[in-house]
Amino acid sequence: MTAFTPVSAWTEAPAPAIPADPLQSNESCDLAIVGGGILGLSSGLHAARQGQAVRIVDAAGVGDRASGLNGGQVIASLKYDPDWLIAHFGEKRGGALAQFAASTADAVFELITREKLAVPREARGWIQAAHSEAAMRAAETRAKQWIAHGVPAKILNVEDVTRLTGAKGYLGGWFDPRGGAIQPFAYTRELARIGTAAGVRIAENTRIRRLQRENAAWVLEASDGKMLRAKTVIVATNAYADALVPGLARTLLPLHSFQIATEPLSETILASILPEGQVVSDSRRIVVYYRRGPNRRMLLGGRGSMSEPTDPKAWAHLEHALKRLYPALSDAKIEKRWFGHVAMTLDHLPHVHEPEPGLIIAAGCQGRGVGLMTALGPRLVDYLATRDAERIPFPITPIRPIPFHAFRNIGISAAIAWYRLVDMLER
Ligand SMILES: Cc1cc2nc3c(=O)[nH]c(=O)nc-3n(C[C@H](O)[C@H](O)[C@H](O)COP(=O)(O)OP(=O)(O)OC[C@H]3O[C@@H](n4cnc5c(N)ncnc54)[C@H](O)[C@@H]3O)c2cc1C
Repeated sequence: MTAFTPVSAWTEAPAPAIPADPLQSNESCDLAIVGGGILGLSSGLHAARQGQAVRIVDAAGVGDRASGLNGGQVIASLKYDPDWLIAHFGEKRGGALAQFAASTADAVFELITREKLAVPREARGWIQAAHSEAAMRAAETRAKQWIAHGVPAKILNVEDVTRLTGAKGYLGGWFDPRGGAIQPFAYTRELARIGTAAGVRIAENTRIRRLQRENAAWVLEASDGKMLRAKTVIVATNAYADALVPGLARTLLPLHSFQIATEPLSETILASILPEGQVVSDSRRIVVYYRRGPNRRMLLGGRGSMSEPTDPKAWAHLEHALKRLYPALSDAKIEKRWFGHVAMTLDHLPHVHEPEPGLIIAAGCQGRGVGLMTALGPRLVDYLATRDAERIPFPITPIRPIPFHAFRNIGISAAIAWYRLVDMLER
């Protein structure tokens, strides 16, 4: 029996090669970035354009982790609505946060256009589809709040949502015109391509195992013993955080997000599925998200088991979800299955830490990092250069590990099972 290997639908298309540039002994730079995902790359590009010597080091290949594996849904906003942000953080910070959140999807599409990135994209909006009366009321509130903030959002009734998605079982939802779709692997590799053209140097397949301050410099030690000295450091390891920064990994719940892609579908079948090209997340506690993908495939993702999947059966719940939403796909073959890590936090907000001056960390995108990390990277760089805390929309907080983090897998698995049951009962 051949071993099963998860393969994403995104790597079918050619993407730019990253020139090999391994760390040499005793290098130095202005800014060292640990992690070459969207956050590391968008930070690196911005810093290089300001004239800084930038070194990005990643334990894997560029695009091999969440940034290249994700659903490619570009979603403006955080998990919280603008009114909540203002009530929670006050007029000034809450208002700035709401404004920042609103800008994150534009940041992606503007960057692609400005830098002429070869990234397939469609800015046709994001739909949050409501599966219950309570979810419908929440969708109405959310849409009204964004409308009050000048966004031409729309509340969708059952006819609207059925026409736009072609899916069964929703009561309505809301439409956010700021959102859309990108090809995430192409986006990540293109960010690396323009980054290196701007002078960023990227060392792939190199894990940083130690990070410490020595006099005026930061010293990063790679697992092969090579040393990199830097004036400032950004740790952009997100859900893949290891023991490099003490306690960081224990501030995060690294959930598994699983995805499937169908075989290429006929135009006849596709005609009634997301005919206007929006992307969708639904309102269930255990969210499913879906969109049209490359090569006329339909893509759907959602939470998966906490153990590493070794068998296609681990994706069976997503196949059921797809066929429940789209009975016309009941005979469609599932050709691709893959997964990655998503960083959740207990307060559902991204966290920014600066455990020592000159070392900045951002993590916890709650599955919305495409826009968020694109927009946040330049802010982190500007903060390091200016020390102006207003450059960063989120409060800079101490690293506070989650109590009983060692038991997270048991807790998360139990919570997922429970929420799935509640979602099913509400259907
Ligand atoms: C399956 C899936 C679907 C998703 N769908 C969406 C979506 O549709 N829309 C959306 O907005 N978001 C989505 N997300 C979330 C989004 O992908 C992430 O929030 C985003 O990519 C995070 O980017 P990043 O640069 O912070 O981290 P990552 O892309 O995770 O990069 C972190 C990097 O750090 C490296 N690293 C870790 N430790 C070390 C070390 N010690 N030394 C060197 N390197 C190290 C890792 O190798 C990794 O490459 C999804 C995520 C997954 C997994």
